[in-house]
This record gives sequence, C-alpha cells and structure tokens, in this order.
Amino acid sequence: MLNSNSPILAGKRAVITGAGRGIGRSIALALAGAGADVALTARTSSELDELVAQIQALGRTALSVPCDVTDPDQVQRMAQTLLTGLGGIDILVNNAGNAGSHKFLNHPDELWHRMIAINLNSVYYVSKAFVPAFIAQRSGRIINIASIASRVGGTYIAGYTAAKHGVLGLTRALAVELLPYNITVNAICPGYVDTPMTDASVSNISTRTGMAASQAREVLEKTSPQKRLMEPEEIASLALFLAQDSSKGITGQAINIDGGGVMS
Ligand code: NDP
Repeated sequence: MLNSNSPILAGKRAVITGAGRGIGRSIALALAGAGADVALTARTSSELDELVAQIQALGRTALSVPCDVTDPDQVQRMAQTLLTGLGGIDILVNNAGNAGSHKFLNHPDELWHRMIAINLNSVYYVSKAFVPAFIAQRSGRIINIASIASRVGGTYIAGYTAAKHGVLGLTRALAVELLPYNITVNAICPGYVDTPMTDASVSNISTRTGMAASQAREVLEKTSPQKRLMEPEEIASLALFLAQDSSKGITGQAINIDGGGVMS
C-alpha cells in the first residue's frame, strides 16, 4: 500500500528504449531511483545486463530484452515479453536514436533511410506496440526523446533533422488522439549531451577536419549559450518530471533543454 512517504513513482512500470548507455541509461536510473519497476531495451545485451544488475542492487525490479527497434516484428515480441514481465506499463520512454551526418550534396540514400528508421520509425513501432495496454487501463505517459534538431535546421544533418521534426509531429498527433484515454505524450528536445553518441560526433568532426578532439568538442559546446554539453542526468530529471502523476496536465508539449539556444 502506498503512503505519502512512498517514492514518487512507486508502483509504476516503465519501459525505456535505448537504455544501454547515454541518456536512456540515466533515465532508467532516475525512474528506478524514484521507485518505478523498469524494463530496458537496446541491441547490446551486455550493456543491458550490466544496468539491470546495477538497478537490482538498489533493490528495484529491472528486466531487459534485446531488440532492434527499427524492426516491427522484434518490437512486437519485445513488447509482449516486457508487458508480461512487468505486469503492464505506465510509462514509455522512446529514447533510442542515432545521429549521422553528411552534406546534402550527394547525400547517401542509405543514411537518409537509416536516420528515419532509427529516429522516427522506431518511435512509431514502439508506441504502436504499447498503446493498446495504455488504452485498456485508461492511463499512461509517453515521453519521446526528440532533439533541438526537432526545432531548427542544422547543416549536414538533413536526415536526422527530418526524422526528429517527425518525432515532434508524431508526439502532437498522439497527444490529441490519446487524450480521451488519459494518456499524455510529450517530447524532450536536448541540445548536445555528453554521451557516447556525442563522443562519436566529436570523433567524426576530428576525422573530417583534422581538428584535435578537444577542439571539436569545444565546437559542440559552443552551440549552447551556456558553452557546455548538457549532462544526461539533466534530461533524466525532465523525463522523471513528465512521468509523474502531477504532470497530468502537460501533453503535446516539447521542452527544450539546450542551455538557452532555442527559445520556443
Ligand atoms: P547513445 O548512442 O549514447 O545511446 C543510444 C542508445 O540507443 C543505446 O543504448 C543504443 O544501444 C540504442 N539504440 C541505437 N540504435 C538502436 C536500435 N536500432 N535498436 C535499439 N536500440 C538502439 O545516444 P544518446 O544517449 O546520446 O541519445 C539518446 C537519444 O537522445 C537519441 O534519440 C538521440 O537522438 C537523442 N539526443 C541526443 C543528443 C546528444 O547530444 N547526445 C542531443 C539530442 C537528442 P545499441 O546500440 O546497443 O542498440
């Protein structure tokens, strides 16, 4: 039985995609730390296993299923396994994503399709797999990790930007359609965050320009008026806020967390 001393997400069940590292890992730790049972998915089992063990050591329930979220059949199987394992779902965090860059001239079609698949189709497939459970219980929270690239254009990231703008469109469409079922759907739009994905971007810039890694990192830091990368824990705090019962009035929103670069 829950009382006023219960952790804020006690009794809630959360699924986090792309939970093996970076932002997804921080979100899983934050939601579990707030009392939720968590189910984790990504492709790399070793990273999931390590995080499951870490969360279980805190005395929380954690389970995982490896899955490529660009494959609808794998997503359906993952959802059935996690719904059974958790006994239901209250919070879905669509976090899995990846960034790739190329100038638009001679842009590889493969990169375009890969960006749409991992950043947009995945949100569609995973939401579609879990929404029936939310509708059946007449409640739920969907939190999509979009990007500041959902808000503004940027050079060399046409595919990523198009996909992330699509995530915002999907967020708003679902927010309206699922409103009668007491399901909220929101997006978080981070600027550059200190994660392995950003490490890969730094290394790409270095390779392409010959800049030292420290200089390349500074280029990314300077995209924020605060002249720093965001920390994954900052994104996790916002996800935790949106996941709470008391955030029930917030839906169809996109919240920027980029050190004040984009004000909209
Ligand atoms: P990381 O690369 O550090 O982690 C990404 C996670 O997603 C990993 O667990 C990875 O696991 C998983 N993932 C990637 N592809 C797939 C796939 N096909 N199927 C299942 N899981 C997959 O990224 P970040 O933590 O930096 O990014 C997380 C989210 O935040 C992304 O949506 C990203 O676009 C967004 N974002 C990130 C920003 C940044 O600067 N880092 C800024 C703005 C938004 P595995 O490879 O094992 O599958």
